[in-house]
Amino acid sequence: MKLYGSIEAGGTKFVCAVGDEELTILERVSFPTTTPEETMAQVIAFFQQYELAAIGIGSFGPIDVHRDSPTYGYITSTPKLAWQNYDFVGTMKQHFPLPLAWTTDVNAAAYGEYVAGAGVGRTSVVYYTIGTGVGGGALQEGRFVEGFSHPEMGHMLVRRHPEDTFAGSCPFHHDCLEGMAAGPALEGRSGTKGQDLAADDPIWAMEAYYIAQCCYNTTLMLAPDVIVLGGGVMKQPQLLPMIRTAFSELLQGYVKTPPLEQYLVAPALADNPGTIGCLALARETALHS
Ligand code: ADP
Ligand code: ZN
Repeated sequence: MKLYGSIEAGGTKFVCAVGDEELTILERVSFPTTTPEETMAQVIAFFQQYELAAIGIGSFGPIDVHRDSPTYGYITSTPKLAWQNYDFVGTMKQHFPLPLAWTTDVNAAAYGEYVAGAGVGRTSVVYYTIGTGVGGGALQEGRFVEGFSHPEMGHMLVRRHPEDTFAGSCPFHHDCLEGMAAGPALEGRSGTKGQDLAADDPIWAMEAYYIAQCCYNTTLMLAPDVIVLGGGVMKQPQLLPMIRTAFSELLQGYVKTPPLEQYLVAPALADNPGTIGCLALARETALHS
């Protein structure tokens, strides 16, 4: 039985897992994201217990995904200073001379949903996470949509809700999508964490308005088969129906999308799309090397 490794490298924690060829998760641990030295020592010690065929890495970023770049495999201009210009893939290669897959955390989650979740049987899948930040990844026929770099869809511009006076929490753009709709924006606007706000708080209509704009922009730019909305903020069950309604109001029937219950959906893999995606990317990389 072949074993694969998965690293979901997030800004607050690293989730490492080992899985089999069926993408069943056999073991999973998590380490806080502190310094590269400290966190990576734990990651390396964890995987050294196993004989792996390949490892898939989905990382917070921005990251360098260009194979012919001298800094391929690096985390580049992240606001997390200790990780700026960190040679992630190079460090892993030193300890694990194996095929390594390398992409963004959201691309990995998109891949997980594509191979084993809400995107199964679909050609084109877009995944967003609405959590501490907002990130998006797009897949077209099994390949990530990218060019000079990977997309940064979470920072798209949105139209301000008429009743919203919040300045926005994005350190780069203030009132971009992430600045208006990520978890810290909910808290910055209301003084209360998203998970502690009442389900009927008027703030959710604002939240739905911004995420609906994200879905609107995505629909008109990519016309994917499905848009999967994950991340901590989407754990509010009332939010998805509100997003569908706001999306319809914005779109005004201009294009005919698939039925919204099948088009704007929650992750089918619940909390695991990133881990399953990294395992699947590892399996894929092992196959082609
Ligand atoms: P991360 O983005 O760090 O990987 P999450 O996707 O869990 O982690 O997102 C964390 C953010 O989501 C925090 O800002 C938190 O307040 C918010 N959040 C977590 N759970 C909920 C919930 N049930 N309802 C609304 N917001 C939530
Ligand atoms: Zn931004």
